[in-house]
Amino acid sequence: MDRSILHKAYDAKQFRSIGHQLIDILADHLANIEEAEKCNHWANPNEEFTFWEAFAQEEHDAISTMKTILDRSIHIHHPRYIGHQVVPTAPITALSSILSALLNNGMAIYEMGAVPSAMERYAVKHMCQKIGYQDGDGVLTSGGTLGNLTALLCARQVMIDRDVWNEGSPNQLAIMVSEEAHYCVDRAAKIMGLGSQGVIKIPVDDEYKMKTELLQAYYDKATEEGIQVFAIVASAPSTSTGIYDDLKGIAAFSQRNNLWMHVDGAHGGAAVYSDKYKHYLSGIEQANSVIIDAHKMLLNPALSTFVCFRDTRHSYQTFNQKAQYLWSQDEQPEWYNYGKRTFECTKRMMSIHYYLLLQIYGEVLFSEFVTRQYELGHKFARLIKDSEDFELAVEVHSNIVCFRYAPDGVSQDRLDGLNDNIRQVLLEDGVFYIVKTKLKGVTYLRVSIMNPQTTIEHLSELLMTIREKAALL
Ligand SMILES: *Cc1c(COP(=O)(O)O)cnc(C)c1O
Repeated sequence: MDRSILHKAYDAKQFRSIGHQLIDILADHLANIEEAEKCNHWANPNEEFTFWEAFAQEEHDAISTMKTILDRSIHIHHPRYIGHQVVPTAPITALSSILSALLNNGMAIYEMGAVPSAMERYAVKHMCQKIGYQDGDGVLTSGGTLGNLTALLCARQVMIDRDVWNEGSPNQLAIMVSEEAHYCVDRAAKIMGLGSQGVIKIPVDDEYKMKTELLQAYYDKATEEGIQVFAIVASAPSTSTGIYDDLKGIAAFSQRNNLWMHVDGAHGGAAVYSDKYKHYLSGIEQANSVIIDAHKMLLNPALSTFVCFRDTRHSYQTFNQKAQYLWSQDEQPEWYNYGKRTFECTKRMMSIHYYLLLQIYGEVLFSEFVTRQYELGHKFARLIKDSEDFELAVEVHSNIVCFRYAPDGVSQDRLDGLNDNIRQVLLEDGVFYIVKTKLKGVTYLRVSIMNPQTTIEHLSELLMTIREKAALL
């Protein structure tokens, strides 16, 4: 029998044995996570590198290696992990990830991924219906950053009546976006060669919403200067604050001026699933395109992002510079060759997690999740407002809450430093994981309540812990 390492690496018996052990370890991890004292074992970057450099020199079997990875990782399923917007995955999607990794059906062309291509069409059409796009279609791509770029490239292709892709543009093109938008929108514009002048930043009001009443004046000024604005990006919500822009107002403005409206719903587009909170998305159905991250509020593993277009034909436009409107009525584009429509050539079988969750649990899983997490965000905001030594940055819309510790007796100019230190102590301590942000120049602590196991008691405990830590600073 062939005893080569290569042969061993493909041994089904070994796969079975390691696989069973790993699943047991992960199931124990989930079952016992609440009892774990810490959600994060902080090491600075150089310490962490030194550890793994040394580890590579030691003998470890697969289980010992994977167990060490598990133990040293940040534990997003821990109820006191309330930091960034990455979701504790629905555990079944860890199993579909194994399936996807083993099958490795790359799906650039249909033949290489018949199943995930068909499922992707189903998933995206399903999401389009939720958004209110009766005749919509789109793709899945690797993250919100690429999703926004995919949609904006399409916007330029559709709205500018020249072939900018091949010939560039003789005049300055631009998009409009809130100053609070995710930095990736700015990055997308720069990648498109729009330059700094090509990103017109609109100020936000006291509630951190894009000031819709300023849009016309900013647009008119740009136009007078010879800048050709072709799109406006709305945040639903913006990442730092969790505040939704006024989509209806933005839709009215973009229709009046014949602009492409894109909604960056990476985080909160998922509120289409919540009867209680979908009013924040009122007007989304009028947008030309929407992105929604499945790895944020839809319980999927990273990365998977819906890019949905209201007009099916637009979902073929991003990388196809031929005028697709020339299709005859009965000529069908090749929906099934996804590589023509996405950045990725080879792509993971992204759709299978969403498809599986719908199949096993139904839509109610998403609606329960979004509603519960947003409700908890509102409850936490109430708790902060009722605590004299804490300040809420802004009334919340979602499960993202910004606040700061501001006890009596600490002067305003020391509050930023105090909150910076609190966050650093919490990070190194590891019992809670939260983040921070700057809003209008002021430091705030920030939580994204992504975990269905997190309760108001944990959040109340967070405030107690902050008081205790601050007392020692
Ligand atoms: C998270 C986020 C992004 C970036 O998405 P990735 O999936 O991390 O690339 C973009 N926009 C908003 C509003 C976000 O919240």
